[in-house]
Amino acid sequence: MIRRGLERVSATLAGLAGPLLAPLLLDDARCPGCGGVAPRQPRQDVGLCADCRQALAPQEAAACSGCGQPLCTDEAAPQAAAPLCPACQDSPRPWGRLVCWGEYDGRLRELVLGYKFEARLGLGRQLQECLAAAFESAAARHPELAGCELVVPVPLHPARLLRRGFNQSRELARLLARRRGLPIRQEALLRVRRTKPQMELDRSARAENIRGAFAADAGLLAGRTALLVDDIMTTGSTLEECSRMMLAAGAAQVHVLVLCRA
Ligand SMILES: [Zn+2]
Ligand SMILES: [Zn+2]
Repeated sequence: MIRRGLERVSATLAGLAGPLLAPLLLDDARCPGCGGVAPRQPRQDVGLCADCRQALAPQEAAACSGCGQPLCTDEAAPQAAAPLCPACQDSPRPWGRLVCWGEYDGRLRELVLGYKFEARLGLGRQLQECLAAAFESAAARHPELAGCELVVPVPLHPARLLRRGFNQSRELARLLARRRGLPIRQEALLRVRRTKPQMELDRSARAENIRGAFAADAGLLAGRTALLVDDIMTTGSTLEECSRMMLAAGAAQVHVLVLCRA
């Protein structure tokens, strides 16, 4: 009797809940990547359409540990601990290993630009997942990455931070830092001089433009292994300058994690 009563109550609740929940579970939603209609997926917090999901698939090819460029097998012995492309063999990078998720191109480029400049923050979680996955996949193959003790985002100048409202590198690193239990230490690296946007400059002008733009905190870095995080690497001038300052401040090692390389 009681059981039948309970069944009736639960049937009534289901009858009520169905129409209330249906719009949440079944309706099409807008893809936060491209604005197209994407079928809503109740178990995923980000409803990307199939095209955007495809664009965010990881780059699997063996890559140069200096710049992240995919390597042909004849360029570097696959058993080498840190295979380098010819350019990085000629002029070594100051960091230990660079990890990157994919190429700054096509849909991934649109997603990053949408996140960074139009503040489509719904994309942030998806890009955070990409960054975290890139690191975890690399750390599984390269145990030295597990030695990272703190995360240092490439800083924006305070004026630019004020205009944009957020430092995309710091935001992108949050999920990885939380999962790994690593502190994010923005204070370890500060931007002390304003610079022209690097996009407007060629390679040598970039290095000149960025020189002296950062100050690193020895108190936070001395003797420690740091993971320097940025969203996009172009020539790497900014990351090189940051790494040099951190090493000069006594960091034992700097590894670099970027979402994509242009
Ligand atoms: Zn889409
Ligand atoms: Zn390289």
